Amino acid sequence: MEIAGKMIAAVFHKSSSGGGDIKLEEIDEPIITKKDQVKIRVMACGICGTDLKIASGAHPANDNIILGHEFAGIIEEVGQDIRDLQIGDKVAVDPNEYCGYCTYCRSGYTNLCEYMATGTTFGIFQHGGFAKHCVLPRNALFKLPREFNMTKAALVEPLSCAMHCHNLADVKESDIVAIIGAGPMGLIIESVIKTHPIKKLISIETDDWRREKALELGADHAINPLTQDVGEEIFNLTGGNGADVIIDAVGASETLEMATKIWSYGARVVCFGQDTRAETLLRPNEIVRYQRKILGSYIYNSKDILDAIDLIGSGRLDTSKLITKEIKLENLLLEGFQIMKEKKCVKIIVKP
Ligand SMILES: [Zn+2]
Ligand SMILES: [Zn+2]
Repeated sequence: MEIAGKMIAAVFHKSSSGGGDIKLEEIDEPIITKKDQVKIRVMACGICGTDLKIASGAHPANDNIILGHEFAGIIEEVGQDIRDLQIGDKVAVDPNEYCGYCTYCRSGYTNLCEYMATGTTFGIFQHGGFAKHCVLPRNALFKLPREFNMTKAALVEPLSCAMHCHNLADVKESDIVAIIGAGPMGLIIESVIKTHPIKKLISIETDDWRREKALELGADHAINPLTQDVGEEIFNLTGGNGADVIIDAVGASETLEMATKIWSYGARVVCFGQDTRAETLLRPNEIVRYQRKILGSYIYNSKDILDAIDLIGSGRLDTSKLITKEIKLENLLLEGFQIMKEKKCVKIIVKP
């Protein structure tokens, strides 16, 4: 029998009142128990807003699970059935485990998998990347080119989300795009949209640091809804027409309402930010009469991951501006989560 070594991991401990504690503790290294599994040495894992939500109880997670779902690594060991991957290969992880045989999976919408809805995500419901090692099924892994930068590889997951959103928004060169919310995901979506020529990009954000960052990443204008009249500003910036594409990267009642006040005829509104408590009233005729679309963007499909890998690998997206800081796993709670709470970051990358 194989003797497992020890490793430090960030483990979630659920409390009975909802939410819980994330603790750094020494646990057994995982070992391969199935023929189709692969063991990786985690090289980088991004901190996500979801990790904070799990701690506060705003997002469900399983008890006793190693968190971290935005990760990539190098293969250390492969199960008996693995033919196409070798020790030393670089891989990015798709943390969303789908079944492959439900109606949605078979229709190409693996992001809507019925099995996934039961809670399967690595780093949320099964062990994830805030540790030196992780054992995953072959299906969760995407092989990366040999020269791929492994810190940037942690961006594959959030960039895949942004790719999916971008594709659904169907952004054209003649479009004026407004992004509501310049948190990490709003900023990453902005960066992806800016890889193609568009007419104008407007960021709408209350936080000063984030508005500055939005401008640095290429937004043409940044509006502060606390001090400016968003409707009036957008009216002036769009020649009175409104924005053609609006990304709601917040997902609150007020932000979707805001979108319906700044939309052009024929506009596409993509709801990206998630808040299960939000409710809003819409006037259907405003959608019908002006042929607008409101649609949701939820995680991504395999093609989005391939596109995200290509976007980073080709250098078409300057990812250096998206990585605010690299930290050691030991500093996850005191430093990483602290910077996240202060909102002064795009991505913090943990190097376990
Ligand atoms: Zn995430
Ligand atoms: Zn499925």
